[in-house]
Amino acid sequence: MTRSVVVAGAGIAGLTAATALARQGWTVEIVEIRPEGATAGWGLTLTGPSLRALDSLGLADACVERGYGMTTITNVDGAAAETIDLPGLIGPGRPSMVGIARPDLHAVLRDEALRLGVRITCQAGVAAIDSRMSIKLTDGTTRHADLMIGADGIRSHVRDLLGLQATVRYHGQMVWRARVRRPTWATGIVTYAGPAMTAGVVPISHRDAYVFLTENGVAATVLPDNELPTRMRDLLGPFTGRITDLCPQIQESVVRRPVRTALIEGPWSQGRCVMIGDAAHAPCPQMASGAALAIEDGVVLAEELDIHSDVTSALAAFENRRRERCTALVKTSEEIAALEGRQRHRETYPLTAKCHSRMALPA
Ligand SMILES: Cc1cc2nc3c(=O)[nH]c(=O)nc-3n(C[C@H](O)[C@H](O)[C@H](O)COP(=O)(O)OP(=O)(O)OC[C@H]3O[C@@H](n4cnc5c(N)ncnc54)[C@H](O)[C@@H]3O)c2cc1C
Repeated sequence: MTRSVVVAGAGIAGLTAATALARQGWTVEIVEIRPEGATAGWGLTLTGPSLRALDSLGLADACVERGYGMTTITNVDGAAAETIDLPGLIGPGRPSMVGIARPDLHAVLRDEALRLGVRITCQAGVAAIDSRMSIKLTDGTTRHADLMIGADGIRSHVRDLLGLQATVRYHGQMVWRARVRRPTWATGIVTYAGPAMTAGVVPISHRDAYVFLTENGVAATVLPDNELPTRMRDLLGPFTGRITDLCPQIQESVVRRPVRTALIEGPWSQGRCVMIGDAAHAPCPQMASGAALAIEDGVVLAEELDIHSDVTSALAAFENRRRERCTALVKTSEEIAALEGRQRHRETYPLTAKCHSRMALPA
């Protein structure tokens, strides 16, 4: 008998889970609060674990094609520069990681979901869920499903509706992003330790890259959009090295986001409803691994639902498989944010390396 699922959120976690379940024959509907095609932010890095999970759905090559394949991270600290060769997780001849524009990643995930028959209803959220799995939407309509997945991001409303308690923390940091032309010397990620902050360049295609900057010791305020380019250029002022060559290009479309983490402390599910992605566990962006966890969640959840015919047993098995890995990543990312806040950048490198080694283990 066909089983049905409603997924709240057409982000990375929701689209991946929808695709993985549609491949197994589930009838899937995603409800997304934003208009069709809306994504926030410039780009992101798909690390090895992201690519491995995407490859299991046949989607890694499409991301490599649309993005920029890389194998190295170079950390520049004053006159010293250390280049780390990252091990690949998807086999020889393929990159260790991919920088990609967010709209391009979403297009890959959305196209595959639609191809598999997933229905995506935009501009609708979940308003109420009852114990008989009657799901009321904000557009006044109602759905009935065997499973509900809350993939509605760090400020999840579904999590609140289910009464699941999460700790959401702001870490006194803002991350800045600006799109630039990819300089020819940026063939991998290049980071720079400034006197008080870190910055870097991530290629997202042969033509484009984004510059990122982490600002420490700052309140979670909102600045007018038109002030952002000047402020970002000012913050990059004390840096040395080639990143400063990119400052003149920072003229418009700068995004600035607070560094927040989230973790559901108790169970991730209630009855036949489960939380995944940032809604369950959001690490700091500096780890470049939140999307990896979100994608893995979708794949692992589908695997457990395939093994266990009973949904609640599958959800328990899913959480059992995921909790330790996701918690460790969130907690380590919080340690890294705290060290950065105290300008102890060098101490963050071994923590980051340890996390990436752990993430390289199977999900
Ligand atoms: C600045 C920054 C840089 C980052 N860089 C990286 C990186 O390089 N690599 C990496 O792996 N990770 C990175 N991350 C983390 C990564 O972006 C997240 O972990 C990932 O997007 C989580 O996916 P998600 O689907 O769980 O949540 P989201 O991407 O937040 O998607 C949630 C979706 O739910 C929708 N929604 C919200 N509320 C409702 C509702 N009530 N009903 C229905 N829909 C709703 C939203 O509109 C959205 O489409 C970064 C994060 C930030 C902030």
